[in-house]
Amino acid sequence: MPHEWVNYESLRAELSFIEILHHYGVELKERGEQWQGFCPLPTHEGKRQSPSFSANVGRRVWQCFGCGAKGNLIEFAARMEGLNPDDPDEFRKAALFLQKTLGEGTAGSERNQKLSQRKRRGNEARRRTWRMSLSL
Ligand SMILES: [Zn+2]
Repeated sequence: MPHEWVNYESLRAELSFIEILHHYGVELKERGEQWQGFCPLPTHEGKRQSPSFSANVGRRVWQCFGCGAKGNLIEFAARMEGLNPDDPDEFRKAALFLQKTLGEGTAGSERNQKLSQRKRRGNEARRRTWRMSLSL
């Protein structure tokens, strides 16, 4: 099996938490940089009765007060893909997946068009939030 190269540093720098949340269809309530909602992780234990999941889209970290999981974007994607982020091989698999799916190297494809649509939707959502906070 060829060993594909993952540049974790540039991957972390170029990934957008908002895009990843859209990719997984995760709906969170926006409160500035701190977004909150029900825990989307398949590993979440217990009932989802309260919005225990919070994501900081600026600092690109997240945590769930319900199941105690937390981490960075790659760890989030790993858990959403059913991978174990504590296992180096599976963590790498998640990073590769992100690099191919949402990284900058995916130019010119249909996927990229979808990506820019997602980006636009993200911007619209942010503008809505600003308008709301202005009218308060
Ligand atoms: Zn959880």
